[in-house]
Amino acid sequence: MSILVTGGAGYIGSHTCVELLNAGYEVIVVDNLSNSKKEAINRVEKITDRSIKFYEMDILDQKALDLIFKANDIDAVIHFAGLKAVGESVEKPLLYYRNNITGTLSLLEAMSHSNCKNIVFSSSATVYGMNNISPLTEDLPLSTTNPYGTTKMYIEHMIRDTYHSDNNWSATLLRYFNPIGAHESGTIGEDPKGIPNNLMPFITQVAVGKRDKLSVFGNDYETHDGTGVRDYIHVVDLAKGHLKALEYTLNNKGVEAINLGTGTGYSVLDMVHTFHHTTKQPISYEITARRPGDIATCFADTSKAKQLLNWETELTLEDMCRDSWRWQSRNPEGY
Ligand code: NAD
Ligand code: UDP
Repeated sequence: MSILVTGGAGYIGSHTCVELLNAGYEVIVVDNLSNSKKEAINRVEKITDRSIKFYEMDILDQKALDLIFKANDIDAVIHFAGLKAVGESVEKPLLYYRNNITGTLSLLEAMSHSNCKNIVFSSSATVYGMNNISPLTEDLPLSTTNPYGTTKMYIEHMIRDTYHSDNNWSATLLRYFNPIGAHESGTIGEDPKGIPNNLMPFITQVAVGKRDKLSVFGNDYETHDGTGVRDYIHVVDLAKGHLKALEYTLNNKGVEAINLGTGTGYSVLDMVHTFHHTTKQPISYEITARRPGDIATCFADTSKAKQLLNWETELTLEDMCRDSWRWQSRNPEGY
């Protein structure tokens, strides 16, 4: 069975390719390498001892996508390709709308032309907005606070409308919580450009000496220690969730939104302390002002994933810290 993975050279895509190849799927990747390197694909091939058909290409190029669907007998698409920096999306909303929304339109049209109507889409917990109370269930009302989040919400609507117009479609909208960690080989991992926006890559860059200290954004939230609480999930557990979602998508028509998280929240200081005791690397930090747009607490209700996908996470917070550190310390400059 052949799976087209858009954005397969990226952080979550590369880990998912490992799981797909290990499970025996043929993998075709389309990525324009705007936020990744081809080396990630080479390393996935090394880990799995299997090969990937790689197209360096933009999903906005619908003619090229049509040709890929013609040349390959594709059973389903896992759609990771997109821009994901919240701050940048506020500065450059049109770039985000074009890349993420027009890119997905182009993909859905190419899928339609070739009669491939099975898709797993990378959505995000950001679609729950600022007003819902955790644990977050999939039926809550959606809202967003930045253009990045809005692209995810609109794409969810686009996919639902596509299904409503043609019930042969099957789609799973995966709402990720906070993916961290890396493959246990230490050869693939998250490779952010410039100063990391997210907590774990910032922590590992402090540990490896690339940054002075972590700024902890606020310690006056209503949480157990005042710092923000999130649902961190190991990227390998997340990747395995995609295989379960793929099987579900191939076997059921319709559209389902499903949370992928652990169901447990940890604070920023929990992360700093767990990283320290797991890796023996102390993390210097200072408390600074809250980051605009941040909420106190965000974690998943995971019952729908358990029920529909028969999936739940297996790896611990210690595993996440150990594997993030193995990747960062062995690849201090990334790929
Ligand atoms: P990533 O940036 O590492 O991977 C995305 C990949 O898509 C990159 O390799 C990039 O080069 C590629 N890409 C972007 N635009 C493209 C285009 N127009 N054509 C072809 N390729 C294109 O990001 P990631 O962390 O692996 O995230 C994957 C998906 O999951 C994204 O859609 C992201 O929004 C979503 N997501 C990520 C997180 C997270 O915290 N990492 C959380 C929720 C949702
Ligand atoms: N955070 C922080 N310092 C940083 C980056 C993040 O204190 O340099 C905090 C942030 O305020 C939030 C948590 O860490 O409470 C996770 O932030 P991240 O950006 O990784 O994920 P998101 O907020 O998008 O869920």
